[in-house]
Amino acid sequence: MRTCLGTANQARHSDAFVSASLRQSHRCASALTDKEIEVNWFWDAFQQTEIIENRKRGSDAQIDAKGALRSINELEEKVDRLSLLCHALFEELERTTGFSEAQLKEKMTQIDLRDGRSDGKYDPVLGSDCPDCGRKVKKTRSNCFWCGASLRTLG
Ligand SMILES: [Zn+2]
Repeated sequence: MRTCLGTANQARHSDAFVSASLRQSHRCASALTDKEIEVNWFWDAFQQTEIIENRKRGSDAQIDAKGALRSINELEEKVDRLSLLCHALFEELERTTGFSEAQLKEKMTQIDLRDGRSDGKYDPVLGSDCPDCGRKVKKTRSNCFWCGASLRTLG
């Protein structure tokens, strides 16, 4: 018995310990030694702690998922409002100036390519290349972040 318990104690957190404990639980309670009962008690306490922690993790994950869904819904509402605003602005622009949809698409392509990539995105953060070191710099800076060159001529 001592040998089995020693092995069980060494492998407390291993699969072997789980299997050994499961086998022990099928034995008659009166056949267990005090040490085996003590090990079983600690194992049960460990399992209960694991169950409680896993329930808490599950609950936390549900809260995180609900927060993510709320954020997605808010973003969808913002996109819908922006889409409505764009449609209203374009219709009014077209009505008052005759600016066509083809001209609008051409302008969108021009703006898209300002950062050197045709990716369907407007990224005002990445502006022009620094005239001195060639790195991408923000349009809002008056000097290059990397080399300090003046960017005033970049507009
Ligand atoms: Zn630079």
